Amino acid sequence: MRRFIDAEKELHEECGVFGIFQNEDAAQLTYYGLHALQHRGQEGCGIVSMDACDLHAYKGKGLVSEVFDDRCLSQLTGCYAIGHVRYSTAGGNEIENVQPLVANLQRHKFAVCHNGQIVNAKELRLELEKQGCIFQGSSDSEIILHLIQKGAGTFLQRIKNAFQQLEGAFACLILCEEGIYAIRDHNGLRPLSYAVMKEGICISSESCAFDVIGAYDMEDVKPGEIVCILQEGIIKTNYCDHVQNRMCAMEYIYFSRPDSVIDGINVHDARKLSGIYMAIQDYDDQDTKADIVIGVPDSSTSAAIGYAQSSGLPFEIGLVKNRYIGRTFIQPTQAQRDRGVRMKLSAIEAIVKDKSVVMIDDSIVRGTTSKRIVQLLKEAGAREVHVRIASPAIRFPCFYGVDTSSYEELICARMDERALCEYIQADSLKFFTIEGLRKCLHEKSLCTACFDGRYVTSLFSYGQLKDSLHKYDENA
Ligand code: SF4
Repeated sequence: MRRFIDAEKELHEECGVFGIFQNEDAAQLTYYGLHALQHRGQEGCGIVSMDACDLHAYKGKGLVSEVFDDRCLSQLTGCYAIGHVRYSTAGGNEIENVQPLVANLQRHKFAVCHNGQIVNAKELRLELEKQGCIFQGSSDSEIILHLIQKGAGTFLQRIKNAFQQLEGAFACLILCEEGIYAIRDHNGLRPLSYAVMKEGICISSESCAFDVIGAYDMEDVKPGEIVCILQEGIIKTNYCDHVQNRMCAMEYIYFSRPDSVIDGINVHDARKLSGIYMAIQDYDDQDTKADIVIGVPDSSTSAAIGYAQSSGLPFEIGLVKNRYIGRTFIQPTQAQRDRGVRMKLSAIEAIVKDKSVVMIDDSIVRGTTSKRIVQLLKEAGAREVHVRIASPAIRFPCFYGVDTSSYEELICARMDERALCEYIQADSLKFFTIEGLRKCLHEKSLCTACFDGRYVTSLFSYGQLKDSLHKYDENA
């Protein structure tokens, strides 16, 4: 017998980008690429293609498969295309904010899409408005359009100048007559890679999309780099000299698909290793006597396999996810999250009944989902539920494009491990450590700001928010 709950996903990232250069099926391949990146955003999507005469754009709200059909894809003619899947943290859910956005520059059209968040967007927008720029929506991509339009020199010089003014976490694609420009923030917070196809080149937020379209020889766009994919070949240049590689740790823990490779590290391998280290920690502490290991599908499965292998306990499928829930389970506002049906999970009684279960999950944000899953397992007859979280405790908001923007939402900002264990009614609770996480990722330098509050950039107006939230926290 299965027992069901409606569980909401607690973390959402902002968007994914994909592009194709020099292929007759550019729009169709971009459609496939966006499909592979659908986990990065379900609210809306768009494709802009370019042929010898013009840019052609189509976008809408909803999943890639809902927005596009054969008829509209056939109208997106040309050998170049860029596309975007959206989840909004900055900007709203209005259609004007669905990317790519298109603009004119001296009668030449160009299109822009990005994922991530620009932390000085508010300041730049105010300054641009003072200078007479008119904004149609609230997406940060519009700021990039205006900065390019207001610049001087060649198109590349304008792009460099525009990106020198941006601070934050982003991966950006710009489409124009000459080809596609791929740009990554100078702290390397968001991933962006390109790969070769039999015919043409493709660019993607995540490498899982390359496998879908048979691309190979992948290379990362480096932090602060502009990769110009043009008729005359690939030209690489930097828009900024102060570069560092501080990839978002949550890309490995949660956001990216397990078949993606980020900065040379396979996501599944990294997650599995985190499970291995957590099991070693438990063995050293000698405080967990369990019968089976289960993972909360899907992003915790790799860590659960690692934990089981290392501990010698059997790995079981104790929780099943309904894969046909569609987009109802990812919604941008708390009201929608509270109201709608989310991700459905079910516990398999035949597996967990009378067992002491180690349950691996990837993170705790609000705590409500963990509590419901523990309850679900106990209702299905689990004798004990030992919760192991494959990330360190999230105590600080993210200002780099991940939807944890307030302390109030973060239960770990208010409760220590013991109090949280009681709250979620688990028999024990442990988080992975930042040191363990670094080991899994071969001591790679990372952004770990949501665990330790050490932000990689200045936060501009978000800094005031952070300070005021700190005061809220201290007074709580
Ligand atoms: S604060 Fe956390 S979620 Fe945000 S970029 Fe850094 S590691 Fe990623």
